[in-house]
Order: sequence, then C-alpha cells, then structure tokens
Amino acid sequence: MKKILVVFSIALLYSCGSSNNSSKVDKSSDSSSKKNKKDASYYAESITSEELKKYLYTFAGDEFEGRDTGEPGQKKAAEYLKQQYEKLGISSPISPSDYFQEIPESYFRGGIKSSENVLAFIKGSEKPEEIVVLSAHYDHVGMDSKGNVYNGADDDGSGTVAILEIAEAFEKARKKGQGPKRSILFLHVTGEEKGLYGSSYYTENPIFPLENTIVDLNIDMIGRIDKSHEGEDKNDYIYLIGSDRLSTDLHNLSEKINTKYTKLDLDYTYNAKDDPNRFYYRSDHYNFAKHNIPIIFYFNGVHNDYHEPTDTADKIEYDLLTRRAKLIFYTAWEIANREDRLVVDGGVAQE
Ligand SMILES: [Zn+2]
Repeated sequence: MKKILVVFSIALLYSCGSSNNSSKVDKSSDSSSKKNKKDASYYAESITSEELKKYLYTFAGDEFEGRDTGEPGQKKAAEYLKQQYEKLGISSPISPSDYFQEIPESYFRGGIKSSENVLAFIKGSEKPEEIVVLSAHYDHVGMDSKGNVYNGADDDGSGTVAILEIAEAFEKARKKGQGPKRSILFLHVTGEEKGLYGSSYYTENPIFPLENTIVDLNIDMIGRIDKSHEGEDKNDYIYLIGSDRLSTDLHNLSEKINTKYTKLDLDYTYNAKDDPNRFYYRSDHYNFAKHNIPIIFYFNGVHNDYHEPTDTADKIEYDLLTRRAKLIFYTAWEIANREDRLVVDGGVAQE
C-alpha cells in the first residue's frame, strides 16, 4: 500500500507543478488527477476487523452498564462516541463541540429520563444540502435486578462500531480531496429499545430538512449468524429489508454494489410484505420511511443471545462484520457520489 501511495504522490506533484503552465499541459494534469482518484475500495480497506473489535470490546463492555436509555451507562456510551469522532477529526452538525441532540424527559413515556442522540457530520463537496443518513441505535436494555449487564454487542454495538469505521473511511477520503459529494450524517440514536424514540425525535426535529434527506441506511445487528445460516456454505449473508419499498433505484444500486465489491448473499426473506416478524416496522429506519425517505435496513436475524446478557463481544463474527460494514460503506459512497439523486418511485410506505 505504501509503495502505491508514493507513486501517486509523485504523480500529484507532477500534475500540480505542471498545471501552472500551458493549456497543452492542462490536459495531462486532468488525466493525472483522474489517476490520483482512488476507487472506493482503497478507502474501504481502512474498515478492519481489528478496529471493529477494539471499539466493540469497549462499547459493549460492562462499564457501559447495558446503555439503558437515560441512565448513566447510556451517557457514558454517548460520551465515548463523541470522543471517537473528535479523535477522527469529524465534527458535529449541531455546533463544533456539541455532538448531542438532547431529547427532553417529557418526550418519553414510562419514567424514562432525558437522553440524547449523538450526531457527526461530513459536509458534501458538491451537493452539501443533500443528506445521506447512516443510522444505528446505541442504547440497549441495561441491567437486571441481579446486576447482570445486557451488553448488547450485536444489538446494536455492531451497528454502532460499523458506523465509526465507515465514518473513518469517508474522513480519510475527504482528507485526500475525495470527500463525498453529498453530505453524510452519522446518526447514533437513543431510546430504540424503548420504542424508537431517538429516530422519531430526530425526524420530528431534523437538523437538516427531510425533503433533502435522500436515504437512511440503518444498521441494527450485523455481527452474528442466525440459525438458518449456520454452516460454512451459508453464513456469508446479510438480510436486507425495505430496499425496494420506496425506491427501485436504491434497490438496484445496492444489488449492483454488492455484486461489484462485497459479494455477500443478500437475503430478502424478511422483506416480504406479509412477513409475520414485521421487522420493517421495528427499527429506526421506519421513522424515515414514514416520511417517504428510501431506506435499507441491514440485519443478521435473531439468535439465542438476542436480548440476553449473553449478547457479548466475544461472540461476534468480526470478519463477517467487516464485510457487511464494507457493503454499507460502498452503498453510501455510491449514493453520495453518483451524479443523480436517488429516484423515489415507490409511493408512501404502507402500514
Ligand atoms: Zn436493536
């Protein structure tokens, strides 16, 4: 990797030096700047299982006490996310040092204390007003009366740390002059387990107009393998839900990207309109779909540790988590960088 970097740097020097000269050289400067442009896969390489693992062992550790909405563990988790974005050099869209969208106690029912969504933002270089949302809930169900911590490593530590890694990849591209053309909002919502509160609050009080929010790629549980995919020939999969409900364009793009880069088995079982599990309505993307914003929900299905204290970081399939995170990165990259905005042709989501 380093060697390639050196070659490109020299090419860049050459093109910078020569672009001041005649129009004849301008042509070669154009072509060498095109050569300097790296494919999305160059940046996807920064999404690694080592980093995902490192993040997740902390994020789903006992210190965060199961991240129960409004409780001290959730506040610690929010602070942790803020610190990671500061380290990555990614700012907040609220104000430079305020990453928290506060949700007042009065918004919740059932004695839940005030809580906060955590937001980070990379501004688009060409169409900054058009927003691509990547969402994952960072709350979980807390602790039981015996003091057992529900670590929620898969639910939804996996989605949370995937977003951190995807954010890092976009930021690396931005620093090399290849930032996304459209803006990207990294949205870590709270209160999901209590009733999709964080995403509902965000869509009722959006930081950016929903009319220009062009997609929500929502991640909720992507680190494990469910029963129907056990076995080496079947476990290279991810369930996609909702991709074709509002935008045929989004569905086709998502398929194409996977064929080109990640080659996972995209399983649409739970996308069936009559699916009794009704997963389409059960995570945060639904609050965007309600507003006619195209969504994809990425999901590994349920397992024995679902909503148990045994959903721990040591049970995560880190290589698979990495590949799934890359699929989402590539999809977001394409939506953010392609010429045309996603076409919404599917009508309003039906209850
Ligand atoms: Zn969840």
